Amino acid sequence: MAGKDILYLVIPCYNEEAVLHETAKQLLAKMNSMFERDMISRDSKIMFVNDGSKDRTWEIIEELHASNPIYSGVKLSRNKGHQNALLAGLMTAKEKADMMISLDADLQDDVDVIDQMVEKYYEGNDVVYGVRSARKTDTFFKKFTAESFYKLLKCMGVEIVYNHADYRLMSKRAVEGLAQFREVNLFLRGIVPLIGYKSEVVTYERHERFAGESKYPLKKMLAFATDGITSFSIKPIRFITTCGILIFGISILMLIYFLAVHFMGRTVAGWTSMIVSIWAIGGLQLLAIGIVGEYIGKIYLETKDRPKYIIETVLDN
Ligand code: UDP
Ligand code: MG
Repeated sequence: MAGKDILYLVIPCYNEEAVLHETAKQLLAKMNSMFERDMISRDSKIMFVNDGSKDRTWEIIEELHASNPIYSGVKLSRNKGHQNALLAGLMTAKEKADMMISLDADLQDDVDVIDQMVEKYYEGNDVVYGVRSARKTDTFFKKFTAESFYKLLKCMGVEIVYNHADYRLMSKRAVEGLAQFREVNLFLRGIVPLIGYKSEVVTYERHERFAGESKYPLKKMLAFATDGITSFSIKPIRFITTCGILIFGISILMLIYFLAVHFMGRTVAGWTSMIVSIWAIGGLQLLAIGIVGEYIGKIYLETKDRPKYIIETVLDN
């Protein structure tokens, strides 16, 4: 083993006071076991990113840091969402780390595959994706929505690793590549494959959240899915154009038919067909405007080029 590179675990935390102590304990045990086997440098850290939590999360991070400098902390100025918090952590960590692993604070991602990720890194991979092999513990609803989400993205032409969330190892140069993507609408799962470099996959089983509750209710999941699609694909707009052409074609055919019927003197009082088509076309138009609006909204946000996050404090020494 080449060995001895610096590893940073990057963990975004939003209102995670219920899980933080246990997570810190388990990750420390993992780091210690890797130190003993000389897999990683002793300068490696466990970095918690506080994403504007409203509970005691940051106080706990400060206490952890004071108790053992292996724990480091980044505090964002306010809540910016999981993706931005993760990015803030990676960008801070890359200054010191050779490799970074992002994982959730609730340890739903099996920490025991960290070893495999690190081994794959030493084998020369710049990105190692953690992929879920089973979702036994997820509710039917979560499993169904999550899997439909991956399928939908795929059919919209977004290059994405199936059943991979944000549990992944990235080398320093991969994170530096990521830093060059300037977009405000962040969808890391879609961007990371675009960075390139050699990559590998490790599989694991996803556990149940052991405390606290999911910070991804349906509303956030839908917003996340829309973001994922509209940031990477213009297929929905093409689809609208196709629909438009199709409907226009049908209306021409109908016109011909009705004219023929009219000249044959068999005009009917077509109330039903008229009202139905008014509603159908109206609905389609609203939908179309909505989808186009999504993209315009994206452009609006991108042109403002606002900072994705603001770091208030860094505890790392
Ligand atoms: N998270 C965050 N900011 C947010 C929402 C979530 O940093 O606005 C973090 C959260 O603390 C956790 C991770 O993102 O570490 C994943 O969230 P969660 O476990 O609630 O999502 P789920 O596993 O249910 O998809
Ligand atoms: Mg979770």
